Amino acid sequence: TTVETYLQKIEAQKQLNAFVEVYAEEARTRAKELDQLETPQGKLHGVVIGIKDVICHKGHEVTAASRILEGFTSIFSATAVERLLAEGAIIIGRLNCDEFAMGSTNENSVYGKVLNAADETRISGGSSGGSAVAVQAGLCMVSLGSDTGGSVRQPADFCGIIGLKPTYGRISRFGLIAYASSFDQIGIFSTTVADAALLLEVMAGADDFDSTVSNTPVPAYSRELETGKKYKIAYFPEALSHPGLDPEISNAVKSKLADWKSQGHTVEEVHFDLLEYIVPAYYILTTAEATSNLSRYDGVKYGFRANKGAITDLDTFYKENRSQGFGWEVKRRIMLGNFVLSSGYYDAYFTQAQKVRRTLTNKLSLIFNDFDFLCLPTSPSVAFKIGEKMEDPVAMYIADIYTVIANLTGVPGIAVPLFSHPDNHMPFGLQLMSAHFNELSLLSFCNNIL
Ligand code: GLN
Repeated sequence: TTVETYLQKIEAQKQLNAFVEVYAEEARTRAKELDQLETPQGKLHGVVIGIKDVICHKGHEVTAASRILEGFTSIFSATAVERLLAEGAIIIGRLNCDEFAMGSTNENSVYGKVLNAADETRISGGSSGGSAVAVQAGLCMVSLGSDTGGSVRQPADFCGIIGLKPTYGRISRFGLIAYASSFDQIGIFSTTVADAALLLEVMAGADDFDSTVSNTPVPAYSRELETGKKYKIAYFPEALSHPGLDPEISNAVKSKLADWKSQGHTVEEVHFDLLEYIVPAYYILTTAEATSNLSRYDGVKYGFRANKGAITDLDTFYKENRSQGFGWEVKRRIMLGNFVLSSGYYDAYFTQAQKVRRTLTNKLSLIFNDFDFLCLPTSPSVAFKIGEKMEDPVAMYIADIYTVIANLTGVPGIAVPLFSHPDNHMPFGLQLMSAHFNELSLLSFCNNIL
C-alpha cells in the first residue's frame, strides 16, 4: 500500500533526519480503515502528510525540537490537523525543525540537523527543515510547516519544492506552538501547486478557537485556479542589486522577469528604500513576542524538569529548568526580547520597530493597489554547507531579508522552484507575494509558470 511505500522510504532515508517520530502502526491502521470505506472519506482520502514538531496532534508528543518540552503529549489537535484528518488524510509522523522555529538551517534542534537530500553535506534550511526534506525526498506527499519569517519559503527554496505561507490569519493558529504570535502562520510544502491549493482550501477559514483567524470566505482554490490571465508584477531593483545576493540568483530572477514581460505580463520596477530596516524590525518584534510566549515554559506545567524535580527555592527551580531546557539560540532571543522590551529601551527599539512595520504595511498596500504580485528572491544564497554560518548569528539573521517582509505585513508569499545553480547544481527559485487573501492569484500564476 501507499503507506507501506512511504514507511520504507522513511526507513531507507533515515540519515536525512527529517522525521523525529514516525507513526507507523497508527498510519497502517488508518490506511486499512480508509480502504474499507465504500466511498472516499473526503478531499484528502489517503493523502500521506507529515507535520512539523510545533503543531499539536492529540495523543502525540510535540516538543518544538526543544528539551524543555521533552515527553510532553498534546491533549488536543491543532485546528489545521483536525481539518486534514476530517478529509481523510493520514498523518505519518512529526518532522524535525529548529527549536521553537527559531533558525534558518535546522541546526538549532535538540534532535540534530537535517540533511538536504540534493547534497547531504548541505543544510536543509529552516526552521521547517524536516518538513521540506520530507517532501523533497518523497518521504510523504505533502507536509506542514510554520512560517514566522520565512521558515516555510526558505527551506522550500533550498530543497527545490513549493513553499506557501498564506496570509496572516488565513489558517487558524490554534494548536500551533507560538513563536511570535502576530507573525506566525502555518504553511504548506508540496511538489505541485494543485496540492498546495487543496491543502489550503481544507485548512483555511474561520475558527472559534483562534480570535485572530479571518472569516473571509475560503475560495475553492484547487478548482478555481485560473489559466492564461495576464498579471501585473512589481519588483524592487534595490533587492536585486543587494551586495549580499548571489549574482547567479539575481540574474536568474531578472531573466524570469524578462520572460514574463515577453509573455505579455506587465513587469515594472518599484523603488524601495526600506531594505535595511526590515531585518532589524523583524528581530526586535519577534524576539519581544517570543520572550513573552516562552515565559510559560518554567518546568511547572509542561515537559522537562531539571534535577528530577528536586526543589530548593522557586527562583533556582525556574532558573535550572530554563537553563537546561532551552538551547543557545532560544536563550539568545529571550535575552534580546527582554532587552528591547525593558522600560529604558522600549521606545528606542520596540516602538521604532512598530513604526517600521506600519510603514512597510502601508508601502505594500500601495504597491498592491497597482500590482498583482511583488517578485523577490527567496534567499540570498542557495543551501550552504552544514556548520558554515553557525558562528555568526547576525549573518544568519540578515539572510532573512527577502522573506520577513511578508510576515511583518501579513501578506501571503510563495516560493517556487525554477532554477539550478550553475556552480553547485543546488536548486533555487523565486518568491512571489500578493495582497492579503489573494492566494488564488498567487497559486494560479505559479501553476502557469511551473
Ligand atoms: N529564520 C527566521 C528566524 O529565525 C525565520 C523563522 C521562522 O519563520 N520560524 O526567526
